[in-house]
Amino acid sequence: MAKIPVKLVSWEEVVEWTRLLAKKIKESGYKPDIVIAVARGGYVPARLLCDFLGVDNLVSIQSQHWTEAAKMAEKAIIKFQYKIDLTGYKAVLVDDIVDTGESVRLAKEFIEKEWHPTELRTAAMQWISSVAKIKPDYYAIEVKEWIWFQYPWTRLEDITQFIRRIIKEELTGKTNKITIQELTQKFKEWYGIEPPPKYYEEALQNLQQENLIQIQDNTIIIKT
Ligand code: ADP
Repeated sequence: MAKIPVKLVSWEEVVEWTRLLAKKIKESGYKPDIVIAVARGGYVPARLLCDFLGVDNLVSIQSQHWTEAAKMAEKAIIKFQYKIDLTGYKAVLVDDIVDTGESVRLAKEFIEKEWHPTELRTAAMQWISSVAKIKPDYYAIEVKEWIWFQYPWTRLEDITQFIRRIIKEELTGKTNKITIQELTQKFKEWYGIEPPPKYYEEALQNLQQENLIQIQDNTIIIKT
């Protein structure tokens, strides 16, 4: 069993999940005239939804979770609080996934208060029903057991973070070197997936730039 269960999502799966989402929206009889993407995760699904629903209007809103260092509490904020007038528009707010649901909840609240759409419904490819505080009006897949969806648009960021975490939580202070093969093995134990080769190499380069590691041939030296 992986420490952190990860599903490596392909571009094709994204297209199929979004197609399914569009089908559910159509079947419900709702006809949005504008799609609103929750940045950054909702961008690709939102663009695809425009295609599948035949919608021309696409805008976005950036809702982000910040960790307040002092309090160690998490708080979602709307980053760029511009105002537009959506009076007369029926809108659909789209994100890749509803996990805690805090980002979508906050974006919805802001849009209703500041942009005044005639109607606003929410949609996501994945809904983690066991942890989410909200249920989107439309979702393609209900996820019952929490898992990290490794979407194609955060591949480098995620793979870098996955390796960083192994180094910081398992290796630093215990060993000062590890071979690339051994690290690959650890990656599989931690996340239950093979690291995608090109991204793995680039992630290691990123961590070398950060000065967390130094790569010498086949060996990774862990800096302290
Ligand atoms: P949180 O902000 O607590 O991570 P949200 O449900 O508000 O949870 O999601 C915010 C964004 O974080 C999502 O739009 C998505 O891009 C990313 N995210 C959250 N949970 C996951 C997950 N389980 N798998 C992949 N991405 C996630």
